[in-house]
Amino acid sequence: MPYPRRILALLAAALLLSPGLAAASPGIVTQHGLLRVEGNKLVGADGQAVSLAGVSFGWSQWEAAPYYNAKVVNWLQEDWKAGLVRAALGLDPTGYLGHPAREKARVCAVVDAAIAADLYVLIDWHDHHANEHTALAVAFFQEMARKYGHRANVMYEIFNEPIKGLTWARDVKPYAETVIAAIRAIDPDNLIIVGTPNWSQDVDVAAADPIKAENIAYTLHFYAGTHKQELRDKAVVAMNKGLPLFVTEWGTCDASGAGPVDVESTRVWMEFMRQWQLSHCNWAIYDKAETAAIIVPGATAQGGWTAKELTASGRLAREWVRNWAKYSAAR
Ligand code: MG
Repeated sequence: MPYPRRILALLAAALLLSPGLAAASPGIVTQHGLLRVEGNKLVGADGQAVSLAGVSFGWSQWEAAPYYNAKVVNWLQEDWKAGLVRAALGLDPTGYLGHPAREKARVCAVVDAAIAADLYVLIDWHDHHANEHTALAVAFFQEMARKYGHRANVMYEIFNEPIKGLTWARDVKPYAETVIAAIRAIDPDNLIIVGTPNWSQDVDVAAADPIKAENIAYTLHFYAGTHKQELRDKAVVAMNKGLPLFVTEWGTCDASGAGPVDVESTRVWMEFMRQWQLSHCNWAIYDKAETAAIIVPGATAQGGWTAKELTASGRLAREWVRNWAKYSAAR
C-alpha cells in the first residue's frame, strides 16, 4: 500500500524537522534565557527573578568520576526535576593538575549533556588554592568561554572555596579580577560566580569591597548540620548591600560531609533560600560511604536510581530539588 506509507513517511519527516512538534515542553533555559544580575537578584531574559535548584557532581577525579555522563544528567532532569547541574573540576595532583585532558573531558561531557537537555550548568573550578593556579585557571576558562560562551546554559564558577586564611583583598579578589578579565575578553555576558573567603562563607567581606564588573555573583556555601542563623545573618548583610549570592553547594549534614542528616536545619535554609530567591546545588553526586553522598556505594552510573540506591541525604535533597519550582513560587 504505497500511498498511506508515503503519508506516514511525510509525517515522520515533518516531526523530525520540527523540534517544536517533537519536544515535550520547552526546557528551563529556553524559558529563562541568559541569566543576569539585577541588584541582588538573578533574573531571566524577561526581567523576572529566577531561583534554580539542582545538584553538584562530586570532585571529578574521585568517586564521582563514573557519574560524569549524559545518562546521569538526563536522570537528574527527568526524576529530580533539576534546573541546573554543577560539574566540579577537581584541582589536585590526582585531578586536573596531573590529568588535565581526562578531567576536562569529564567536565565537558556534563556541560554538553546539560546543553542538550536544556539545563543550566556551572563549570566549577573546584579548588581551595585557586590563587596559586591563576595562569591555569585563565587558560581553562578562556577555552571554556570560546567553546560555550554563546550558550545561555553556562555559568563560570571560578573559585570553589578559598581556604581559611586566604584574604579577600590580597588573595581572592585579585585572582577573581584576573580570571574575570580573561573570560570577558571572549564572553561579554555569561554569569561569573566568585568564591568568598573562609570556605565561601564570608560573603559580608566581599560585600564591603565588591568587584567592579558586570554580571558577577558571589558564592555562599552552607552545611545544614554546621551552619545556622549566624551564617544566614552574614548573607543578609551582604544581600542588603546589594550583593547577589549563589549557593553553588549546600549539604544536609556537617561541613566535613559526615555526621547526621539535619532535616530541620535543611528546612530552615530552604525557607531562607525561597525568601531570597537564591539558586542552589546540593553536594553531591558520588558514591563514597559518607553522609553527603546522594547515592550508596556501587550505585549504577546510568542514573535511574531507586529509593534504595539513594542515601538518606540523597532522598531528602531529591524532595527539595524536585519540589523547588512549586515551593519557591509560593510566596
Ligand atoms: Mg556569552
